Amino acid sequence: MKNLLPEYFGCMVFDDKVMQARLAPDVYNSLQRTIAHGRSLNLSVANEVASAMKDWAVELGATHYTHWFQPMTGITAEKHDSFISPDKDGRVIMEFSGKELVRGESDASSFPSGGLRATFEARGYTAWDATSYAFIKDGVLCIPTAFCSYGGEALDQKTPLLRSMEAINRQALRVLKLFGNENVTSVKTTVGAEQEYFLVDKDLFQQRKDLIYTGRTLFGSKPPKGQELEDHYFGVIKPRVQAFMKELNEELWKLGVLAKTEHNEAAPSQHELAPIYDTTNIAADHNQLTMEIMQKLAKKHDMVCLLHEKPFAGVNGSGKHNNWSISTNTGVNLLEPGDTPAANAQFLLFLCAIIKAVDDYQDLLRISVASASNDHRLGAGEAPPAVVSIFLGDELTEILESIEKDSPYGAKEKELMRVGVHTLPKFPKDTTDRNRTSPFAFTGNKFEFRMVGSSSSISGSNVVINTAVAESLRLFADELENASDFETALHSLIKRVITKHKRIIFNGNGYDDAWTKEAEKRGLCNLKSTPEALPYFVAKKNVALFTAHKVFTEKEMYSRYEILLESYCKLVNIEARTMADMSMKDILPAISEYSQTLSNTILSKKSVCESLDCSYEQSTLTEICELLSKAYKHTRDLNKLLISAGKIAETQALATYYHDKVLTKMEALRKDVDALENVVSADYWPFPTYGDLLFGI
Ligand code: ADP
Ligand code: MG
Repeated sequence: MKNLLPEYFGCMVFDDKVMQARLAPDVYNSLQRTIAHGRSLNLSVANEVASAMKDWAVELGATHYTHWFQPMTGITAEKHDSFISPDKDGRVIMEFSGKELVRGESDASSFPSGGLRATFEARGYTAWDATSYAFIKDGVLCIPTAFCSYGGEALDQKTPLLRSMEAINRQALRVLKLFGNENVTSVKTTVGAEQEYFLVDKDLFQQRKDLIYTGRTLFGSKPPKGQELEDHYFGVIKPRVQAFMKELNEELWKLGVLAKTEHNEAAPSQHELAPIYDTTNIAADHNQLTMEIMQKLAKKHDMVCLLHEKPFAGVNGSGKHNNWSISTNTGVNLLEPGDTPAANAQFLLFLCAIIKAVDDYQDLLRISVASASNDHRLGAGEAPPAVVSIFLGDELTEILESIEKDSPYGAKEKELMRVGVHTLPKFPKDTTDRNRTSPFAFTGNKFEFRMVGSSSSISGSNVVINTAVAESLRLFADELENASDFETALHSLIKRVITKHKRIIFNGNGYDDAWTKEAEKRGLCNLKSTPEALPYFVAKKNVALFTAHKVFTEKEMYSRYEILLESYCKLVNIEARTMADMSMKDILPAISEYSQTLSNTILSKKSVCESLDCSYEQSTLTEICELLSKAYKHTRDLNKLLISAGKIAETQALATYYHDKVLTKMEALRKDVDALENVVSADYWPFPTYGDLLFGI
């Protein structure tokens, strides 16, 4: 059978091939210049592009178009407009103008703005990100856009991401020039986002209010079998899941998403999809699409895709490994150790820029992954702790040490590590060195940031990485541009950075408690929860960073801080209410009924013969009654706490309250209910168990 993949890959994308075929050469060239240099598109070119795009989309069955954007809700938003427009004879024609392509008006009032949007000004607008191709999804032409308030403030994930890419481009070019890379005209960051997810049976899902309302189980005792046999990771994929994955790949390929690998993950019913990396903003768009299509297709296969970071307590959580690198328009990956001493010196400087960035902005990296849902995963035994550190591997660490201490490097040659364009020895290229427990690991030619949660947009983390590294590069360029002797200055700069920032390097087991203690000694921050971490977002140094690189205005930062706090509070509130509801309406009544069954059994046994043994019924009944009253009390307390929450006006205080009081109470309630699950007859348990959910496909 002929493999049609190369033919249908990207068939729903208005990509370069389509543009070349459908646009007049001058229009095409003008659009390309806009894309390459970020210039604004003139209206006549925009009209031509829009018209060609519409014809192409209509041929493929589209009737509508939408500006597709990523507001601060974490999911994508779209408002469909049809192409139709009445003509003189009372009929309709299909139209799409340049103005409609480049800019859309949108009512911003229903999206989170964190106080940015004045009440009298509800308008927002969307603007085409021409570097990300338009595509057709469900008969709608989708135009990837950025979303801003009418005053120009970012209301989305994409705007700051594009700004941060520009910031790192600006500063990296300055540094590259110092190394004589005259032909490099732009630098882009690249990302490959590995996506983890769970699949559960749709019928079972429908029976659990917690999954329906919150995406995670709020109750559930561990099944007799978990992941201890390690038989799921890379295991044979079940036919039902295989059918889903096949269709998922095909849908993603049609949309030009480079879905590459798929496999079972560590936990039962957990899976992963990894794409081939792309330019960061495109990778972010594609990851949003991937999550959306995963959820849509799972339903079609009678399953539900759970993107929550910790759908099951005590079972591995899901993350999103953000593989990050930076490369030039001439095709050089700047995190690939080079073949020549000059290339290596340059590599070392970029490496140092990242080490410094991660150390200086640990708090921001932590915040970029902070959410009520990811809090359950970070530090939960199988994910990186809330402490940020870098894994470099032994070889690279040794090289840095010998530079720092002016000591000889290498077992045989014992060369002195003198960073210079002419003297630096070749580095061993060791890509096999792997440490799966590090939050920020060097993996040969890229860094893998593993703290990102499975449900969140990757934009936030990449905004931080890009901007923080841009800041290191800015300081380096300032210093080196003014040096009288480049090589000496370079050597002393690198040495200084290593000495100052080596505390962030940790090659050991990141999941070990000993590391958390050691990290504290090293002065690294350990921001355990979202409410604890978020205030650092608007710390003076962080405001200075983002404003200096024009990624956020101070106002935008405060608005984001507010949005993050608000969504934290809302999420915990929904969870707590769901828990109380399940407890009062489903769990407590079911258990009460079971206790009645037990008492009846005891009574009837005794009526037959006074001396019949009722030890099972009696002790179970005693245990159940005790736990039942405790669970009932916790439920009432939880409801009281929620009422009191309504009296707290200040958002930071409210978030802290939800964390300290509400979550703690939820844990207490869960503990008793899970204990009940272990003693109550399976026939009486009101919803599917962990065992049913995890092994139900
Ligand atoms: P694994 O981490 O599972 O061993 P790989 O190392 O092959 O797998 O790649 C993991 C992810 O890193 C993939 O999504 C891949 O496309 C991405 N990746 C590879 N090179 C780069 C790069 N230069 N920039 C960003 N991501 C990259
Ligand atoms: Mg990986």
